[in-house]
Amino acid sequence: MSENKIDPSLLSELKATTRITDDETAEVRELVLYIDEPFFRFREGQSIGVLVPGKDDLGSSYHKRKYTIVKGNQVSTGDGVELTILVRRCFYIDDFSGEEYPGRASNYLCDAKVGDSIIITGPYRSSFAIPDDKSSNIIMIGTGTGIAPFRAFIGHIYKEKNDWEGQVRLFYGAKTGLDLLYMNDKNNDLVNYYQEETFQAFNALTRRPLSGDEKALEHSLEENIKEAWDLIKNPDTYVFVAGLDNVAPSLDMVMIHASGSKEAWGTLKQKMKDEGRWSTLLYS
Ligand SMILES: Cc1cc2nc3c(=O)[nH]c(=O)nc-3n(C[C@H](O)[C@H](O)[C@H](O)COP(=O)(O)OP(=O)(O)OC[C@H]3O[C@@H](n4cnc5c(N)ncnc54)[C@H](O)[C@@H]3O)c2cc1C
Repeated sequence: MSENKIDPSLLSELKATTRITDDETAEVRELVLYIDEPFFRFREGQSIGVLVPGKDDLGSSYHKRKYTIVKGNQVSTGDGVELTILVRRCFYIDDFSGEEYPGRASNYLCDAKVGDSIIITGPYRSSFAIPDDKSSNIIMIGTGTGIAPFRAFIGHIYKEKNDWEGQVRLFYGAKTGLDLLYMNDKNNDLVNYYQEETFQAFNALTRRPLSGDEKALEHSLEENIKEAWDLIKNPDTYVFVAGLDNVAPSLDMVMIHASGSKEAWGTLKQKMKDEGRWSTLLYS
């Protein structure tokens, strides 16, 4: 894609950028983007693409990465829309040299200043679809920024499908209490759902300083394994997994233990996938 072919309506302006984790943990920033285009329609839980200028590995003029829309609203002054994303600043280790290097899009976004223009694409459909049957059980399992699609998802379940009858469970792991800010404890929107009889959230923090979010998730699942396992075995249960891709092995480990063997868990997981009851949104 060449720069002069970019639709100007996809130019957004950075309105606010706030670090929501402390200096001791991975940097996560909340970014508010303004799009001066009243017809830009999206739903929370969908994602936008961010185009970072400069060639990517495949020779394209832009490096593109997706970010989940955590919240959004029509702006009262002007015709545009605002949306919020959470971005975790990523670093990777080069397999060949062993050296650490910064992720391009996440560092571009975390370094951006208020007033900067950011080119976006989308919005893109969420891979998480609410089951039609209100008596279905829903288990959400995630870490870190994986909370972003879940917050939107829980909101949709209770706002759009009144009187949800199935059980809704959120298992969320975080490295420190501050990471729980991903859950937006400040304006604690999830609290709205705690009064719903069917909703329960299990948060976990890692006890040891060096272990990661996925260890916290393991801990949370293990502490509630009876209920989690009973629900997972239920043929009316849908599982949604989101966050960094190291969530998957941690989840497998706990479930292999609960099911008694790697084979038993592999068979059940495959059955859920075949029946459309297993959805993931994992990224590196
Ligand atoms: C639907 C969706 C929603 C997402 N939502 C969020 C969110 O809300 N918040 C958030 O912080 N992140 C989110 N991500 C992850 C995000 O898109 C980026 O992958 C992440 O920020 C790292 O990108 P980067 O450009 O900084 O790293 P890169 O410069 O791309 O990273 C370097 C290396 O890491 C690997 N890599 C990293 N990401 C990808 C990828 N997406 N595809 C292929 N290879 C990759 C590649 O090996 C690459 O060479 C989401 C991803 C998806 C698919």
